[in-house]
Amino acid sequence: MTSFCPEIWPEDPAPESQKDCRECGLYQQGSRMVWGEGNAKAPIMIILDNPGAREDREGNPMVCGTRQTLQKAAHEAGLDKDELYVTYILKRKPVRAYDKEKTRTICMRHLDEQIFKHKPELIVCLGNVAVQCFFRNPELDVKGLRGSWYEVDGYQTTVAYHPLAARRRPNLYPLLLEDLQLVAAKHHGPAG
Ligand code: SF4
Repeated sequence: MTSFCPEIWPEDPAPESQKDCRECGLYQQGSRMVWGEGNAKAPIMIILDNPGAREDREGNPMVCGTRQTLQKAAHEAGLDKDELYVTYILKRKPVRAYDKEKTRTICMRHLDEQIFKHKPELIVCLGNVAVQCFFRNPELDVKGLRGSWYEVDGYQTTVAYHPLAARRRPNLYPLLLEDLQLVAAKHHGPAG
């Protein structure tokens, strides 16, 4: 295994027609839009709840804790960064209270269009928010679904714990790793 070092993955810019989106009102909270990051043509699409900051307060590039743990687990599971594209239910990080249900429903339109355009081979939802929004069922959770594949809107989909949860609760990290190994095995095949 090659050595691992977290790094800033290239940002996938928002399409011209969406980059000034104000549909849900979250733009008023001031966080900038992040459309996606990683390889925009990757076969595996990872869905998180919302983007963390890509820059610190001084504007210098940074790799947040969620990204560090995700990249580490992906590397240890045998997934190459070129095989991964990361995007979000919300394209802006909320910084204050907001109407969660309404905002997620509005912004999901972007994700639906992204998936239609990218047509990923596999989709991985990380964390309960991504799971409940993408499966369109507020009763579901990672604990109950992990370890299996599901067909959602015609896409082979699985779930895993949010990298930040695995970072805060180290007992969850091996489960995140296990779930990403499931993804690597499906993508690479039995001999992969
Ligand atoms: S969070 Fe989504 S819907 Fe809301 S302003 Fe940003 S891109 Fe538009």
